[in-house]
Amino acid sequence: MREIRPGVWFVEGENRGRYPFAHSLFVDGEEGLLIDTGVGPALESLVPKTRQVVLSHFHRDHVARNHLFTAARFAVHQADAPGVENAEHFYRFSGLSQFNIEAYWRMVSQIKFMPTSIDRYLQDGDLLDTGRHSLRVLHLPGHTQGHCGYLFEEYGFVFATDIDLTAFGPWYGNPVSDLEQFRSSIGKLRALKPELIATGHSMPTAKNIDSKLAAYAEVLDRRDQKILNAISEKPLTLAEITDKKFVYKRHNGQEVLRYFEEQMVRKHLESLVRIKMVTVTSDGLYSATN
Ligand SMILES: [Zn+2]
Repeated sequence: MREIRPGVWFVEGENRGRYPFAHSLFVDGEEGLLIDTGVGPALESLVPKTRQVVLSHFHRDHVARNHLFTAARFAVHQADAPGVENAEHFYRFSGLSQFNIEAYWRMVSQIKFMPTSIDRYLQDGDLLDTGRHSLRVLHLPGHTQGHCGYLFEEYGFVFATDIDLTAFGPWYGNPVSDLEQFRSSIGKLRALKPELIATGHSMPTAKNIDSKLAAYAEVLDRRDQKILNAISEKPLTLAEITDKKFVYKRHNGQEVLRYFEEQMVRKHLESLVRIKMVTVTSDGLYSATN
């Protein structure tokens, strides 16, 4: 744990917070508050001090150790709450119901679904209070419908959770993910001009934040361009574009990764069709308009 601002602790996830782990934030106060529970076993030391657990979104790598916090109240944005409370909604939100899920859970280190009951449903702009600090809920949809970051106005600090500033770039592979919302949410963060930022999968930084956010958004433009280049040569189906592995580079024979890639490619194509840069025939062949 590292105190990055007085009373605000960055809790580093195992394996540098790489999936299936994630970084957390702990905020001191009589009502000690923890954002996300994907750090790993080290979180156990925070159980006695944590009165409230706030979840950034429904993904398992951010909620994996909710069960440790038996005495805490739980909060999450209202749009993602069903995916935390109920297995059926989790599978629907994630698109994972069609897969051999046991094999998938083994692959991602056993973070299988366990329901959590939610005490508070959050909305954009809500204030969370620990008695020492207050932090504002920033609804940043796109990654999931209810994905949120948290703003400490007094410090100009944002915990941006899965607008995660990794080199991989934005991830929107669930049926409930939305590419255009993701772009807008990055824009919303840039407009705030944070002085310090940390995310669920990258370390806190105060340097060149705006250019890091801009570079992260540019990954989306590059994916658009790769798809456009491919279908400029000849019309292709969604499956053919998916097999080019523009997002994941390899699927390692994992049908779940291929599925996520297909979801993301589909969202690019839909957005390019909307702005008339791409047309699609009735038999599902995509081509670039000139
Ligand atoms: Zn996520």
